[in-house]
Amino acid sequence: MTLQVFGLPVARGVAIGKAVLVASSRVDVAHYFIGPDQVEPEIERLRRARDVVADELAGLKRDMPSDAPAELGALLDVHLMLLHDEALTGATKQWIVERHYNAEWALSAQLEVLARQFDEMEDEYLRERKADIEQVVERLLQALGRNGSVLAAAPAPHPADWGGEDPLVLIANDIAPADMLQFKRSVFQGFVTDVGGKTSHTAIVARSMGIPAVVGAREASHLIRQDDWVIIDGDAGVVIVDPSPIVLEEYRFRQRQSELERERLARLRHTPAVTLDGERVELLANIELPQDAPGALAAGAVGVGLFRTEFLFMNRNGELPGEDEQFEAYRAAVQAMQGLPVTIRTIDIGADKPFERMSHNELRHEHTLNPAMGLRAIRWSLSEPSMFRMQLRAILRASAYGKVRLLVPMLTHLGEVRQTFEALARAKQQLSDAGVPYTDVEVGAMIEVPGAALLADSFLKHFDFVSLGTNDLIQYTLAIDRADEAVAHLYDPWHPAVLRLIANTISAAHAAGKGVSVCGEMAGDPAFTALLLSMGLRSFSMHPSQIATIKQRILRADTRRLSHHAQAILSSDAPEEACCRLLRGDTGRETSLH
Ligand code: PEP
Ligand code: MG
Repeated sequence: MTLQVFGLPVARGVAIGKAVLVASSRVDVAHYFIGPDQVEPEIERLRRARDVVADELAGLKRDMPSDAPAELGALLDVHLMLLHDEALTGATKQWIVERHYNAEWALSAQLEVLARQFDEMEDEYLRERKADIEQVVERLLQALGRNGSVLAAAPAPHPADWGGEDPLVLIANDIAPADMLQFKRSVFQGFVTDVGGKTSHTAIVARSMGIPAVVGAREASHLIRQDDWVIIDGDAGVVIVDPSPIVLEEYRFRQRQSELERERLARLRHTPAVTLDGERVELLANIELPQDAPGALAAGAVGVGLFRTEFLFMNRNGELPGEDEQFEAYRAAVQAMQGLPVTIRTIDIGADKPFERMSHNELRHEHTLNPAMGLRAIRWSLSEPSMFRMQLRAILRASAYGKVRLLVPMLTHLGEVRQTFEALARAKQQLSDAGVPYTDVEVGAMIEVPGAALLADSFLKHFDFVSLGTNDLIQYTLAIDRADEAVAHLYDPWHPAVLRLIANTISAAHAAGKGVSVCGEMAGDPAFTALLLSMGLRSFSMHPSQIATIKQRILRADTRRLSHHAQAILSSDAPEEACCRLLRGDTGRETSLH
């Protein structure tokens, strides 16, 4: 039966595929396809893992102290029985044979199927046995990890490439930004999550993958079943489950249309972004990893406006990258950009990119009551001075290989500005003392807290440029957690207070003769291009996949006409309507992604 689930659109386009349900706790498991000739070795790997776990369980039972409760022995017997049950290992083998999933993926897929069966059981005692299955699977996954994957280094191509299998879309309750990163070059054609807001970092990473995604779809992971055919409409934020042939055909048509549109826009890659009245606009890229830099270049970016370095610190089993490793990553990005500027932001950890993922002895682990307002970004860096200096040294060292600009997130107090420059001076001194080359980099502040936007003129006295982080600026101005879908309807980039803070910052930068850019999601949203141009913005930083769309808007814009309307829009109580009315036809209309 056809079913529609509504959520928030985060990445445009249409994806059609079979649902792969992944439990939140399992999303960090490797997902890749194995080649037909690797099926047997993969089954053997699973078999070895099962033998290891069987030995572990037998050993635990043997070494049980004589006074241990009798239930413990019985529990170990149950786990041993489950381990050999066909419903677990036999069915897991089938996922490997029929779908060519790697063993870890096959196991988590089967766990998902069994967990649902347990959830539906009437008998409470039986329902609670789900925890036992989960524990056995956890042991198997650990044993597989110790075993190592024969393929982890070189995943096989999608089975479609050797003529098998249908396209797949991922459905999960939640995916942490760090886990989302692992899916960057994965097999999935689209994503749906139950939770999350449009500018949560999970959504941002999904958007950077350029594949359709819907977040905040609440019950999606309960309503959709493994292998259901699903359409993800990333424009409308709708997920259609088990569509009728007619609906499917309509969406296939739309899918072809958006592919054609993408191809058409790609032709603008080498066209300079200049408005009708000859104003040159800088279109920069936001990246998460150095590997994203070639894609930015290919999309026509004239530099990187935001390199979110915190993603280098994730998925490392608690081992943080040292100075040399960080330097190599920054240098790789700088060299990939072939002389174009690369704006490297110091680590912005905290809030929806929590410390726990890093699980490092020296890092703080406490759960703050309100993480978005807690020890985040520069606040955290200043509380870890040696780590901060290490990052600064690594960034400075990369400056010897190209044009590097340093960007500092979430500054709020002028005292933090002073401390930041002191740390930078010390890092430079350390490099000079050691005879390590670096150049004098430009330093910029992210303006993403209302206090900083109101004090933009004071901040600008200390910095070479500012970059507006509108994702956080909206969150903090309106007191709306950007990752919380329950208040997503109140997350409003059109709010007059937000627009006035943005306009104030742009004017202050112009008055100071300093550079100003927007690197939040508004920069890549065509609904705001004309408005931002009308406020005088000439530098936009966004996901590479958005560059062509925004460039098209810029090519059609006349900033002389637009600037006449800025004041009327800013003083309106309904800026979105005023913008539609006054700027209609100036860059083409587009519904906001927000
Ligand atoms: C922002 O807040 O707008 C921004 C660009 O930074 P991030 O999304 O990483 O918080
Ligand atoms: Mg931010």
